[in-house]
Amino acid sequence: MTVDREAALKALAAAVGADQVLSSGDLSAWEQDWRRRWRGKALAVVRPGNTAEVAAVVRACAALDLSLVPQGGNTGLVGGGVPDDSGTQVLLTLQRMNRIRAVDAANLAITAEAGCVLQAVQQAATARGLMFPLSLAAEGSCTLGGNLATNAGGTQVLRYGNARALCLGLEVVTADGDVWDGLSGLRKDNTGYDLRDLFIGSEGTLGIITAATMVLVPQPAAITTAMAALNSVRDAVALLELARARLGAGLTGFEVMGRFALDLVAKHFPALPAPLPQAPWTVLLEQSDNEGQAQARHRFEALLGDALERGLIQDAVVAETLAQSQGLWHVRESIPLAQSQEGLNIKHDIALPVSAVADFVEQTNAALQAHLPGVRLVDFGHLGDGNLHYNVQAPPGDDAARFLAEQEHAVNRMVYDAVQRFGGSISAEHGVGQLKREEIVERKSAVALALMRRIKQALDPHNRLNPDRVLATQRGPV
Ligand code: FAD
Ligand code: ZN
Repeated sequence: MTVDREAALKALAAAVGADQVLSSGDLSAWEQDWRRRWRGKALAVVRPGNTAEVAAVVRACAALDLSLVPQGGNTGLVGGGVPDDSGTQVLLTLQRMNRIRAVDAANLAITAEAGCVLQAVQQAATARGLMFPLSLAAEGSCTLGGNLATNAGGTQVLRYGNARALCLGLEVVTADGDVWDGLSGLRKDNTGYDLRDLFIGSEGTLGIITAATMVLVPQPAAITTAMAALNSVRDAVALLELARARLGAGLTGFEVMGRFALDLVAKHFPALPAPLPQAPWTVLLEQSDNEGQAQARHRFEALLGDALERGLIQDAVVAETLAQSQGLWHVRESIPLAQSQEGLNIKHDIALPVSAVADFVEQTNAALQAHLPGVRLVDFGHLGDGNLHYNVQAPPGDDAARFLAEQEHAVNRMVYDAVQRFGGSISAEHGVGQLKREEIVERKSAVALALMRRIKQALDPHNRLNPDRVLATQRGPV
């Protein structure tokens, strides 16, 4: 495709102002993904400051037949938010759209622009004595728009749901450059197809999210956090069942961490505390309650005592202070960074019925060890949701990049075949992007794929919004 670069830059400058169109210098912050796995080349990085400017950029791109890649915090892990290497795509970053528009305490809702960093949304809720319960390790840099575009999950889904469950309404710029104002704060609205749900999880391929109205919840009166050491993932599943029975809706977090995942944290962040002696598996549990602290703690300790007696856990530590609780979470949240410092690995972000997790892990670990002796498994994740980050690291001493290049295909096949056998999904959180675009063709039904293509065709007939992501389509009609 040939592009009149000068004409394009002029049209983009007319839409957002020349200062907000970057086309030279080091653009790697936008052109390269968080894992440094994909590096593209944008025609320009464009930084609109409001919804009207986003719409103007989309219309300018339509007039010039240019494609667009929306981007928020660029923390996505599947290569969905970086441009291809053609030098013809416009990278549209929402980062300047970072205003909290309103907090409606009576309606338990917050309306914020798409470029708001997740942590800023949480803080705006806290400032009003409320809580925005979406929480993930990238919250200091990922954005609300990116969270919605990927239907992000995180650490409190088992109680509060994922980004989709927390969304009441959206404002979206369509592929034609129109603005759909769907920012209702309504809990109930059955007036036809749910447009909001089409855009959530669409990874920038159906529309550009410019603002959202999200659910807030009352702040819990007491939060108790503990870590427990276990012998097996099977025991972790049994502990989850016991915790659910004892704590009911009070259980807000249940994270599991394999031994090697914590070894990597100890290796790369030696200053972090190691709260428990090393064990094959460690679980981080959290309870949030509206009772007082003393009652909540009593219930929590009774649960852990019972689990000890039943032999489900070998040891446990309960945080005494907020700082200790944050320390425990810090260990858990350092795993992604620690593994990225160790070098590239083969990532799997899978969902399984909780009842199938133990069989899956035991069988797949054994199959991988048989195929690749010495291979190391960075297993961790949101066991409460049946979601595992099941990552495969090269055996000690092997070159990580070569291992990825040579083994990714075979390892993916083994892992994803097992996921399918157990009735799971190959992406629980991170989405499809370019990483799993070919894989979903093999794993989803022909009917599902045909419906997805028809939705894309209907909402973006010229295939200008993040083409070739999610659905493999070179530029041109879908
Ligand atoms: P980006 O990376 O900028 O974009 C992601 C996708 O969304 C791209 O396809 C992009 O085109 C599209 N997009 C971005 N903004 C918009 C918009 N306004 N309108 C339309 N499309 C848009 N994810 C989880 O679900 N749970 C986790 O626990 C979790 N933990 C993580 C921990 C770390 C350390 C890291 C680096 C990532 C983690 N992620 C997790 C993945 C990632 O953070 C989330 O997917 C996050 O929601 C992406 O937000 P972002 O603003 O960085 O989006
Ligand atoms: Zn996760």
